[in-house]
Amino acid sequence: MLRLNQILPPARKISRKHYLGKVLSLYASNRCGIRKLSSVAQCVPADRELQRPGIHKLCEGQELDGFIVQQVADIPELHLRTYRLVHKATGAQYLHVDRDDTNNAFSVGFRTTPSNSTGLPHILEHTTLCGSVGYPCRDPFFKMLNRSMATFMNAMTGPDYTIYPFATQNPKDYCNLMSVYLDAVFRPQLRELDFRQEGWRLEHEDVEDRNSPIIIKGVVFNEMKGVFAENQNIFQQNLLNEILPSHTYKYVSGGDPISIPKLSHKDLTDFQSKYYSPSNARFFSYGNFPITDHVSFINNNYLKDYGALTSITARETLVPPEKRWKSPRQKHVACRLDPMVADKDKQSTVAVGLLCSDITNIQDTFELHVLSELLVKGPNSAFYKTMVEPNIGAGFAPVTGYDAHTKDTIFAVGLQGVSAADFEKVVKIFDNTVDTVVSKGFDENQVEGVLHNIELNMKHQVSDFGLGLLFNLTPLWNHDGDLVKALRIENQVSQLRQNLKHNPHYLQDKVKLFLDDNDHRLVLTMSPDECYEENLKRTEQELLKEKLASLTEEDKNKIYLQGIDLKREQERTVDTSCLPTLRVTDLKQIIDQTPVKSSSFASVPVQICVQPTNGISYFRGILNVSNLNDELKALVPLFCHVVTKMGTRKHDYRELDSLVQLKTGGLNLTPHIAEDMHDLSLYEEGVVLSSHCLDRNAKDLFELWSEIFQEVTLSDVKRFDTLVKVLAANLGNGIVSMGHVYAISAAASLISPSALQKELYSGLSHVSRMRDVAQMMDLAPVLEKIKTISECLLNKRHLRCAVNLSADSESSVMSKIESFINSLPASCEKPFVQTRAKDTNMSVTIPATHHVLPIPVNYVAKCVATVPYSHEHFAPLRVLARLLTSKYLHPLIREKGGAYGSGASLSMTGVFSFFSYRDPGSCSTLNVFDGAHDWVLGNKFMDQDVEEAKLGVFQRLDAPIPPGSRGMIHFLDGIDDESLQLHREALMTVSRDDLHTVCRQYLGWDSGTRSSLALVGPQNKQLVTREGECWNVVVQE
Ligand SMILES: [Zn+2]
Repeated sequence: MLRLNQILPPARKISRKHYLGKVLSLYASNRCGIRKLSSVAQCVPADRELQRPGIHKLCEGQELDGFIVQQVADIPELHLRTYRLVHKATGAQYLHVDRDDTNNAFSVGFRTTPSNSTGLPHILEHTTLCGSVGYPCRDPFFKMLNRSMATFMNAMTGPDYTIYPFATQNPKDYCNLMSVYLDAVFRPQLRELDFRQEGWRLEHEDVEDRNSPIIIKGVVFNEMKGVFAENQNIFQQNLLNEILPSHTYKYVSGGDPISIPKLSHKDLTDFQSKYYSPSNARFFSYGNFPITDHVSFINNNYLKDYGALTSITARETLVPPEKRWKSPRQKHVACRLDPMVADKDKQSTVAVGLLCSDITNIQDTFELHVLSELLVKGPNSAFYKTMVEPNIGAGFAPVTGYDAHTKDTIFAVGLQGVSAADFEKVVKIFDNTVDTVVSKGFDENQVEGVLHNIELNMKHQVSDFGLGLLFNLTPLWNHDGDLVKALRIENQVSQLRQNLKHNPHYLQDKVKLFLDDNDHRLVLTMSPDECYEENLKRTEQELLKEKLASLTEEDKNKIYLQGIDLKREQERTVDTSCLPTLRVTDLKQIIDQTPVKSSSFASVPVQICVQPTNGISYFRGILNVSNLNDELKALVPLFCHVVTKMGTRKHDYRELDSLVQLKTGGLNLTPHIAEDMHDLSLYEEGVVLSSHCLDRNAKDLFELWSEIFQEVTLSDVKRFDTLVKVLAANLGNGIVSMGHVYAISAAASLISPSALQKELYSGLSHVSRMRDVAQMMDLAPVLEKIKTISECLLNKRHLRCAVNLSADSESSVMSKIESFINSLPASCEKPFVQTRAKDTNMSVTIPATHHVLPIPVNYVAKCVATVPYSHEHFAPLRVLARLLTSKYLHPLIREKGGAYGSGASLSMTGVFSFFSYRDPGSCSTLNVFDGAHDWVLGNKFMDQDVEEAKLGVFQRLDAPIPPGSRGMIHFLDGIDDESLQLHREALMTVSRDDLHTVCRQYLGWDSGTRSSLALVGPQNKQLVTREGECWNVVVQE
């Protein structure tokens, strides 16, 4: 589905995946498009005025540039007003959400219902963005990434829709992007050449060499191989295909790699002309820019020339309701062996899936979401108790929960890491659990906890509220549901409360209806097959053989020439002057100041940031871990994962969780490494505590923290065992989607002391350590060590804190923080401690690690040690990374090499990294990385490219920060407003000469800087032949 991002075709449960870091912004970022409908509530409003000038100008029935205003509605709880319009001539639909938010969003989308698994809508999504009539340069979408200050740009294909969204705070940028996006979808070039690049093609392995073998290449072809390299993705895809088998959902909308090569260019253009018609279009805009400008632009430039003829499409693409089954079904699928799974005999997955209500039934959808929270979330939920805690498997499978993205919605409970012999047992447990819930119902506190979280999420402000709305509303809108009704979350809550008042058994009756008396039920099972990978390869080989057998000499000649043709096209310098652009001079010169105050209680420093937080208080703390020995340090991530989940002397873990749900947004701990901005050998290592709550619950929040600090009980080995197994399984599931992050971490750890510590906390070495811990027969000794960590850390000896709150709650919340800090044991000795790393040996050869995994794609990384944040070369290196990403790596590694993504970045550790993502190549990619130096010094770029690279850097720097997170860069990284301003000024003045200087100094072979390499991917015999590199091969088995 996605072009840069990675949303998987099943379009499910993406939000549950854990993401390790933010190394990539647009490429495969953690901003996954698809969330649950009910998490509309996650995105929140500022407590600002709805009544702004101009807002009242539109009323129902009014005509506006070919559109008719059909509905105007206020949603006070989200501080917004919605406008629904329809285009008279074509029937195109429009939703505008007016809200006092500067991060404006836009999207144009279509209902796209595939009728095979060739990945048609997905490949069309890619090709659409390869050039249009108005913007005929190659790949304007990627080009715009660097000519804009977009806070988000992407395109996504779901199971039955395709959307093209962006967000930006700049009005000129908004117009520029809207124009490029609309031209792309309504007037795309869809050249055959682009189809071959993005979709699939037959081509010589070495394009220039007629004698090299002909193979299948293509961006989406490789992307989808990468997607299905992850077992849980195979499972999710199959669940969707099998439980909704009679219409469009039985196909793989992203494309099955084996079916993709059946697609022709003509299929693509036919599909486009049918589906990308205004009468099948949905336009969305959000924010504080006026709707009138958007509507007039869309009508005058695109819609007014279309006639009513096209309005047939909307009906043609309707997805009918699934015909309900008379009896349950069963299905088994195979997957690959997974070396990262703790228990070799327990690599199977089983799930029970049930088809629930129609997505347009808003109240049902809401209540099913509540039920899902009650049934599968946290240690008090019924299925957690019966399925996860007995340790039959390694926790819920990612399909678990309620999913409202399809016409008929789905509830599923699955267990991963089980033995195939236990399939029946698990299904029996499922049935017994449902029976128990139906007869006993739910605890009142648990229901209140879920409703409290809905209230808290409505108030908690996030920076991408508009996009959140879009992603959550799109599936409902796609099936013509009532959007306004869906946004009235308070109505849904009070309706549920009423239902419960009239019938105390209301929720359990719903469970009976949807989970018990429901024959549309699928039991899906999956087990590894040793030959899976081999079979897949063979099928691909046979497909290729079949294709080759039918080729005439003439065809072969054509393939050779087409390959050359595409290569030339990819190498051609593109004239981008037709594209609009922002300039660095359009950007603000001075940063937005974030005033923070310093205070202290019992010598513990507290940073106070007063913000309009909408009735929520945010509390964070850092505990230093430098006093721990290495063995204990290695367990810090596990300590973070379990310490708030084990219970205290006052409350067992279930009671504790229930209180946390009722009073807070969660108590979280995460490992923390912050580099010194002046010295690369210095870093702060610790644990960050983070939490937030409604102001009225501040007392409870600090009492809970106090209880964790002073009365945590770390003795229940069985509970610990469950938590360890779930953590290990979840880490294992994320490897393929985060492969580039793991590769960079592995390489960086070879040359940077703080990166080494990060690798131990979150890299592949952490993943394999957790797998080993999960395999231990007796976990008591490990738990004993966790206890030692808690005794060392949970006091005020090395504590420092930060709080973000509103002015009106400041005094009351501060008094609660004061008593919390005073209550903590020990006395504050040194709140800020830095670790000084020993100098590591310089060696002549380049250290390199190859993590061997049985996956069909590679993740390649190269790292170079450079300078800290305050150094004068930091700014030019940052610009250089952007320049290389778009002008050098993208054309060579994605366009020519067929990898899904690639890039360069500079971390706060001063590590300059190159990487590739889902890459069919390995050594060729390493050669491209090495060639960066010559490319820069060969002056193969223009001044406009430098300008664009700077814009790319500012995109990240100027991304909006929600009130609850302001001042965090100061608290966590020690970077104050003055340093940020200096860095901004340095970036503004970076010149071509500066880029040459840093390139010569850090990227050359003879520069004397230290560099390192890593490869995550299948076994690779070529590596040893590479000169000057010392490869350490780590086989995960
Ligand atoms: Zn894609």
